[in-house]
Amino acid sequence: MTQLIDGKAIALQIRQELKIEVDKLIFSGKPVPGLAVILVGENPASQAYVGSKIKACEELGFLSVSERYPETITEEFLLERISLLNHRTDIHGILVQMPLPKHISEKKVIEAIDYRKDVDGFHPVNVGKLVIGEPGFVPCTPAGIMVLLERSGNLPDGKHVVVVGRSNIVGKPIANLLVQKSKLANATVTVCHTGTPDIAKFTREADIVIAAAGKPNAITGDMIKDGCVLIDVGINRIPDSSAKSGYRLVGDAHFESCAPKCKAITPVPGGVGPMTIAMLMKNTFSGATGQFFY
Ligand code: NAD
Repeated sequence: MTQLIDGKAIALQIRQELKIEVDKLIFSGKPVPGLAVILVGENPASQAYVGSKIKACEELGFLSVSERYPETITEEFLLERISLLNHRTDIHGILVQMPLPKHISEKKVIEAIDYRKDVDGFHPVNVGKLVIGEPGFVPCTPAGIMVLLERSGNLPDGKHVVVVGRSNIVGKPIANLLVQKSKLANATVTVCHTGTPDIAKFTREADIVIAAAGKPNAITGDMIKDGCVLIDVGINRIPDSSAKSGYRLVGDAHFESCAPKCKAITPVPGGVGPMTIAMLMKNTFSGATGQFFY
């Protein structure tokens, strides 16, 4: 029987555990964690993500501040807003929802956020800390994948993990987390990407495949070995006339051909997705308390 890794249930556990910690903070008179989210423009997916983040903050009793601006704002204005938030003592986490309009440099924006409030874990200081194994903010999706592997009983220790995708948000950080010398990591890691001539040659050797290519059907059943663990990070909208919205969400793996061969697999939706917001809440808690879980 293939184990379906239930990201919704594990994310709920994380949020419930965090709520207990937040209540302890409040009881001891310490300030509640505060998260500021900045949204630029009208991208519907970004609006939905920001809405979920604000709701998660409210459920945990966090202070939540949201700033929404039209896509015509200047880069200078956005950098000023970030600077103001950097100086607010009641704000412990700052998140600027990506993507940004083309005239605003994402690099400048990421580097303008005080690395001690960088709950997305994209600032070069936090990227460096992750690589050398020092405590710091870890990007939410890779952090969520590590927790899914741990709590589903599929530890990567001693395993060969193949990561498909090399973005700064998912592929590179998850590869760097997995190679750390720690009992929750300690894997042998191969990273495949658009420059890899024969991806299947590597995925067929993998005990664990992390699919983060952003392409539906990038991983099919013939590309994996029997008994592998498949973590599907992809969230792709494909047209579906039978759905009210006109589309449905699929991952990067072809679920029907992969699942029967897998020891364990994450569904899309309901796998990695719910973990990302849970880990954002954990990162905001870390920003307020200085207690890092990585
Ligand atoms: P990205 O487009 O920035 O990066 C994709 C990477 O995959 C690139 O490095 C590219 O080299 C590689 N790639 C592309 N096509 C490939 C192929 N056919 N074979 C091998 N490698 C290929 O995307 P991203 O931000 O890393 O996100 C990846 C996927 O994960 C997307 O579907 C995204 O929507 C999803 N995502 C989900 C969450 C979540 O919370 N579940 C969070 C972030 C991203």
